[in-house]
Amino acid sequence: MAGTDLLPPLGDLRILSATMSDDVVVVSAATTSQDAACPVCRFRSQSVHSRYARTIADLPWQGRRVRIRLLVRRFRCSNVDCPRKVFCERLADAAQPHARTTCRLTDAHTAVGTALGGEAGSRLCQRLAAPTSPDTLLRRIKSLPRPSHPSPRVLGVDDFAFRRRHTYGTVLIDLERRCVVDLLPDRETNTLVRWLEQRPGVEIVSRDRASAYSQAVTAAVPSATQVADRFHLLVNLREAMERAFQRGAGVVRAVLDDRKPTPDATTPAVVLPFKPCHGTSRIERQSRFDRVRSLYREGRSLRSIAREFRLHYRTVERYVRTDALPTWGAGMRRGSRLDRHAEFLRERLQRDGPTSAQLHRELASRGCRCGASFLRQYVRRLRCELELPPRRPSRPMSAVPVSRPSARQLAIAVLRDPATRNQKEAEHVKRLAAAESPLGAAIALAESFAAMLRQRRGDGLEDWLQRAERCNCLQPFAAGIRRDLDAVRAGLSLPWSNGPVEGSVNRLKLIKRSGYGRMGFDLLRARVLNAS
Ligand SMILES: [Zn+2]
Repeated sequence: MAGTDLLPPLGDLRILSATMSDDVVVVSAATTSQDAACPVCRFRSQSVHSRYARTIADLPWQGRRVRIRLLVRRFRCSNVDCPRKVFCERLADAAQPHARTTCRLTDAHTAVGTALGGEAGSRLCQRLAAPTSPDTLLRRIKSLPRPSHPSPRVLGVDDFAFRRRHTYGTVLIDLERRCVVDLLPDRETNTLVRWLEQRPGVEIVSRDRASAYSQAVTAAVPSATQVADRFHLLVNLREAMERAFQRGAGVVRAVLDDRKPTPDATTPAVVLPFKPCHGTSRIERQSRFDRVRSLYREGRSLRSIAREFRLHYRTVERYVRTDALPTWGAGMRRGSRLDRHAEFLRERLQRDGPTSAQLHRELASRGCRCGASFLRQYVRRLRCELELPPRRPSRPMSAVPVSRPSARQLAIAVLRDPATRNQKEAEHVKRLAAAESPLGAAIALAESFAAMLRQRRGDGLEDWLQRAERCNCLQPFAAGIRRDLDAVRAGLSLPWSNGPVEGSVNRLKLIKRSGYGRMGFDLLRARVLNAS
């Protein structure tokens, strides 16, 4: 193999020397062609004006950087009419004029930059013996031409967060080719309208339930079939069921704990599933809960109640919607490595009630290494179990073993395919569905909607809606569907959905996060479009 085969195609080339040190290979070469073409008039000239040296970086060899020192010539243009008097000879397709890297190294840098971004890409290039700066990588990505996608026939529209709850953008997906077609800097109707108007040929649009997108499609392509995305339908239904379970918390607790449900939902009997040692805090919370609800009934606003009680707005909202003090989220009791010392701890607690710090020291002398706060929690639970008074009665309870699913877990279990529910989920759903409360009816309706969605039976939607509109828990969800009826029916009948392109959306999120929140929209768009 001749030495020039390892070099980029620089035209006629003579290697003058090659030296290699630990980390760099320097190749000196000179061009040997008889003449060169003027870049302006294309006349060929043989009249050499002068020579100069040019250094170009190339792809690494065996882990070493490569520098090509080229002796390049300037020529006089022999065309008297040409405005250019002197020109430099060009290096075929190997390197752009004035470039300090060969085209193939530039391509490699661009590929690394597109995959990793500036800083991480620069670090990798350094390791690969092709060093470059983060700024150069970003410049390379931004200068990439936009990939030209044909106008999609089936378009998926979804939003993504630049900053969750603050700023959002829109991702547009070709559902037939399964690739990202474009990103928009916001999720406004007008932006999407402008984009759609520039790309005729869209026939089907799968979108979420936000009205901005539906308005845009109606305005720009009124003939297109709109499809409500199935994933978003399920999310909406799950949220509706979650609210239903939160509102019926008393019933859920009674059914799952196998007690008789409270006869009158507005005045629930205060059932304290906790040991007396935690009673103080439980009673305080119960009284606060009652006061919040009575103030709300008197017509006070949620926000002013939240301010008065120094509670989060959402907490007040939940208190008002629920008929019993929520106790979920108390955490589940799992095996602990302190269980081995439980006997010793019980005996010590009953004898003279030492502080947790004392116990921590004593355990250390027995060879048990555990965190102080971890031990404190464990001791608190033991005290509760032994019915000892807490050392600080006002501390909130935290470690009472309660293994009841959350409202969200229940809602997810209801929407899951019955064949894939685990034993516990199946048991919970079965018992709650059989309960004599509006929850039972809501669960049956939610299950039948999920089945309709899985089996693409959009023709049953009208019948389902009529039943759901009579159910208190699902009435708002049904009203939402009624407003968007055609798109939902299409979603339940057609095969199109944004689901299969979640991978593309995940890649978008990955790329976005790799910029640590500092990536501008243009750079994000260039990276996403060239990565797919
Ligand atoms: Zn010329």
